[in-house]
Amino acid sequence: MSNSSLVNYTKLSPNYSERKDTIKKITIHHMAGNLSVETCGNVFASSSRQASSNYGIGSDGRVGMYVEEKNRSWCSSNASNDHQAVTIEVANDRIGGDWHISDTALAKLIELCVDICKRNGIERLNYTGDTTGNLTRHNMFVATTCPGPYLQSKFEYIAEEVNKRLQPQETDQKENSTSTTYKVQAGDTVAAICRKYYSQSTKKEWDLIKNTNGLDSNYTIRTGQILTIPNASTSNVNSGELKIGDTVKIIGTGSSQANGGGTTAGGIGWTRTIIKIQSGAKNPYCVGSGTIATGWYPASSLQKL
Ligand SMILES: [Zn+2]
Repeated sequence: MSNSSLVNYTKLSPNYSERKDTIKKITIHHMAGNLSVETCGNVFASSSRQASSNYGIGSDGRVGMYVEEKNRSWCSSNASNDHQAVTIEVANDRIGGDWHISDTALAKLIELCVDICKRNGIERLNYTGDTTGNLTRHNMFVATTCPGPYLQSKFEYIAEEVNKRLQPQETDQKENSTSTTYKVQAGDTVAAICRKYYSQSTKKEWDLIKNTNGLDSNYTIRTGQILTIPNASTSNVNSGELKIGDTVKIIGTGSSQANGGGTTAGGIGWTRTIIKIQSGAKNPYCVGSGTIATGWYPASSLQKL
């Protein structure tokens, strides 16, 4: 079981149990406060607090990880739910009232849900308004204001947006597609999948699959997992040719920092804009939408549109 490559900050909490079920749900919470991902990590770092979540999202859109996905967080007042769920705490940018969350946090929440679904073989999010669906709320299990009126009103929208991105439109896909998805069958290996999709199956292709999907160093995959299979296509730009404001499609991996450090940045197939350039860096191009950065990429991971 892997963790999200969208994580900007990790502070593992002592408040967790071994996960006793497979991941098939997502439970969204609000922090009931405007906590940064660091402050939220400090709250969950205290064992006397007896609470945690797998992830947290700040109002600035940064993502914190407090309990790895392989473990069960202590989050939703319901053991059965939390053994099956990845739990996410979202910061409020307004305290009280409708407990508003920022647009930036909402956008990142949708992105994180898509990532969780893809890596865990969840084909779609089904919000039923009760516990029979796989998108659940804290107040389905216990009397609490969590996730607050504003965020709760967004659950249908969140499921819709996530499902749209899990099943990209058929139109124009053939010609412009930079990736396809593949559902892992029993007995599959990354090497065998590479043989299916690429002209060769060497460490280069295996690593492309590994980095795109956040696999561990042993290339572990499991039956039912949905893998993104990027085209082995090459970039149409040379280093130095791109400028701020250029529209690009992400066709390879990057990292969360220009020098190549930090977490792996994915987003293969996404259309984004160049928002910053650090010339001379290993990954000189910061791409994103608005001010929200997807990651730093080398020219070879970008296709100019
Ligand atoms: Zn909650």
